[in-house]
Amino acid sequence: MVMFQNHRSNYLKVKCMDCGNQQIVFDHAASVVQCIICGKTLVKPKGGKSEILAQVVEVLD
Ligand SMILES: [Zn+2]
Repeated sequence: MVMFQNHRSNYLKVKCMDCGNQQIVFDHAASVVQCIICGKTLVKPKGGKSEILAQVVEVLD
């Protein structure tokens, strides 16, 4: 059985909804993360937890 660590940060593979680019982002980003292709904001810091503004394709450990 897999034990999940409490409140640990994850890396997420997200897909930009504007251009379809996929990139890896940190889900507790301290600053805004933008799409490397089109510059759309993908992750916005929000009170400790990030707001994900892109489609999450995969959650990575
Ligand atoms: Zn994009």
